[in-house]
Amino acid sequence: MFSSKILCFFALTLSSSLTIVLTTSCNGSRNVERIKSSNSKINLIKYSDSIQQTAKRRCTDDPWLSDEIMKVGYQLGVKTFIGEPELPNKDATYKALHGQLGILTLGTRPMNQLVRCKLITHEYIHVLQHINENLKGMEPLGWPVSSESLNYFGSPQEAEAYTYQDHAELVLKLLLKVRSEKIHEK
Ligand SMILES: [Zn+2]
Repeated sequence: MFSSKILCFFALTLSSSLTIVLTTSCNGSRNVERIKSSNSKINLIKYSDSIQQTAKRRCTDDPWLSDEIMKVGYQLGVKTFIGEPELPNKDATYKALHGQLGILTLGTRPMNQLVRCKLITHEYIHVLQHINENLKGMEPLGWPVSSESLNYFGSPQEAEAYTYQDHAELVLKLLLKVRSEKIHEK
């Protein structure tokens, strides 16, 4: 029941010009099985409004925020590897697993800290999307995105991650909230 069933696969590519191009390989992302376990589900959307008031620092303000994100993610149980992302020519992938936190793979291509911060923040937005569905699916957190980005990126999950990938402190504080609620992968 809790086997490593892949729900959805998101990947991010950063070109050398730092233009961010996103691709998604996600079979039936809109049809992901949504099993509600309200007794243990943490509602991140409930917290994100208030946290947004105080978590205003972005990667462009402090690109080292992503190190804090990585640290908290590790503590929560996100498995992180440095190596070849599972989709070719991608700089990072987050593979969401059914019923447990997924696997983050960061590529080895050199990049500056700002780009790295956005890459990690982006992938951790997918982690939050996964957590918010009680690890049984992956749906957008519900942050506003433009219709243009929805059309361009092809999935609401990617549009959200792309739109907010500079919002490192917001993502960090939501992860800290998850940690404080002692939500684990089991
Ligand atoms: Zn993505």
